[in-house]
Amino acid sequence: MDVRCYLPTHSHAVHIGGLEEVALMNRYTPNISTPDMIILRDYQDILWTKSLSGGCEYCEANQGRPLQLTDFFNILRPQNIEIEGRKFWAYKHGPIELVIMRTRHFPDTAISVDESQWCSGVFINRKVWISGDTMFDADYPIRFAKLAEVMFHDTQLFFGGVHASYQELMTLPEDVRKKMFLYHYGDNWDKPETWAGGTDKYTGDPIKDGFLGWTDQRTAYDFY
Ligand SMILES: [Zn+2]
Repeated sequence: MDVRCYLPTHSHAVHIGGLEEVALMNRYTPNISTPDMIILRDYQDILWTKSLSGGCEYCEANQGRPLQLTDFFNILRPQNIEIEGRKFWAYKHGPIELVIMRTRHFPDTAISVDESQWCSGVFINRKVWISGDTMFDADYPIRFAKLAEVMFHDTQLFFGGVHASYQELMTLPEDVRKKMFLYHYGDNWDKPETWAGGTDKYTGDPIKDGFLGWTDQRTAYDFY
């Protein structure tokens, strides 16, 4: 309950699985203010109807109607912006500017963002870019590497599926990789012989391969 503002990127359980508890705990714990949520209109409806409403909607009748997402969160709505001629959304939360972009994450057959389910990356204060989960779309990391100081990209240790594979990320230019931490990697990350053994194009040690490294769990990354 220390976290007072949420920015859900997409509806996979590893990203929003705890949000129902967040909603209920904040609504039914005395003397706690309603948390904020930064979310676009389209995704608000999906998040509520497909994921949260089942456990939240009928906790009580609020003036004769079922509860809504707005009963659990103060909704903060991003606005349209353009960066270098491309359209994104942005929300300014105190000193933090969040630029939100759609990414192509799932299903794995989607060949464009328009064919994908809702998923978004985020660019914070024009400094820190987070892929937010995506298949490999070289255009985004290459474009944002020109603006970002640090980047975080999801990866998986095999080719295919709904994340950018390590081998695909290795095809990014060196000056992009050198700004990039990798997250969402598999549990065998420290046994490269199990997933990087068959190639001489990379070692499986991201620092040796030109990245900033694996993102560490339970580590705060401070950019100020
Ligand atoms: Zn995901």
